[in-house]
Amino acid sequence: MLALIHGNHNVSRIELAKMTGASVASMTAMVKRLMRKGLIVESGKASGNLGRKPVSLSLRDELGHAVGVDLGSFLTRIVVADISSKIVYKAEMPTGMKDGREAVIRRTFAAVHQAMREAHVSPDTLKGVGMAHSGVIDTHNGVVLFFPRPGQMTEWRNVPLRDILEKEFGVPSALDDSARMMALAEKHFGFARELKDALFIEVGMGIGASIFIDGKLYRGPGGGAGEFGHMTVEEDGPLCSCGNKGCLEAMASCAAIIQAVKSALEQGVNSKVSELVDGNLDRISVEIIVEAAKKNDTLSFRVLHEAVSRIGIMLADVINLLNPSCVVFAGPLFRHGGDFVLEQLKEVIRRRALEKPFSEAKLRISTLGSEAAALGAARFITQQVLENLYHEKMALHSRA
Ligand SMILES: [Zn+2]
Repeated sequence: MLALIHGNHNVSRIELAKMTGASVASMTAMVKRLMRKGLIVESGKASGNLGRKPVSLSLRDELGHAVGVDLGSFLTRIVVADISSKIVYKAEMPTGMKDGREAVIRRTFAAVHQAMREAHVSPDTLKGVGMAHSGVIDTHNGVVLFFPRPGQMTEWRNVPLRDILEKEFGVPSALDDSARMMALAEKHFGFARELKDALFIEVGMGIGASIFIDGKLYRGPGGGAGEFGHMTVEEDGPLCSCGNKGCLEAMASCAAIIQAVKSALEQGVNSKVSELVDGNLDRISVEIIVEAAKKNDTLSFRVLHEAVSRIGIMLADVINLLNPSCVVFAGPLFRHGGDFVLEQLKEVIRRRALEKPFSEAKLRISTLGSEAAALGAARFITQQVLENLYHEKMALHSRA
């Protein structure tokens, strides 16, 4: 019930009754109980004299705030959200992975404290901190198992990041893979209805996936399901930082795309990209490569097309395997590539997948912004806070 109000801001009693199949009378009684417990409030009364409009309900703002952090390979994003997961403050800063784990964690914590001050959230109203990390995560134990990025393997091996967060902020914390946190945000703020039996694919510096089965995020018994990026594309392909050879991530992530263009330019291949970055190869980004490809730059078009083909071939297999109703794409490749990339990808999948599962899978690009993973992390926390509050209040109720 609380979860329903959490998921449907400003819902009315009548709508709740419809959703649950309960009678309006029993719904009204239940709402009354939750209001007495101080968990929900009437958020809007319809005005005017055009007949009685239903009163909308929402969670009480004073129930607290949550912080969501997305510790990305290049950028760290922080959001402060209220209990209904409305963003009240957001910030973004370079992660600076090269400075090492300790410096990264110290800076991130300082930025979270700063964000709380800016958002006027005191430590007593902070209910939890959720963090998204793009490494390989043991969600159950809150540990970064490893971070398959060049130079980060020893820095981020078996780091109990959730405990470190709890120690710093003194509140319950959560740690999960960024693709899964993003997928949670998608589920609540994006293509919610489409995500009943669906795949969520993120292509950034790494490649991750989330699998929704029957409306629920499938995590697997160890919490590690969805490592789409470490499926093998080429038996003897380039070494992936996970230790395997020829992983999809090593051959088609944004990092791989940028590296392929950079190497070609270093070998003297002619390309519009050189002009677009004023000769500074460190400025090459996926955004620039897409821009050049759209202007018929041969190198950019070829590199992008190769990456997209590899993703498409693997995805066709996964679509055959799972028969999803929808595949949602996110991350810089799709944020910058848009339909230009999606149309190429669709064509590859169409050629490779079986006709029926292909025609049943809607392929679309996420409409959420770059703070999706941080928002998902905050949402993860508010959901837990509500569950705990509910059980606490209801336990009091039954004892009374
Ligand atoms: Zn790998």
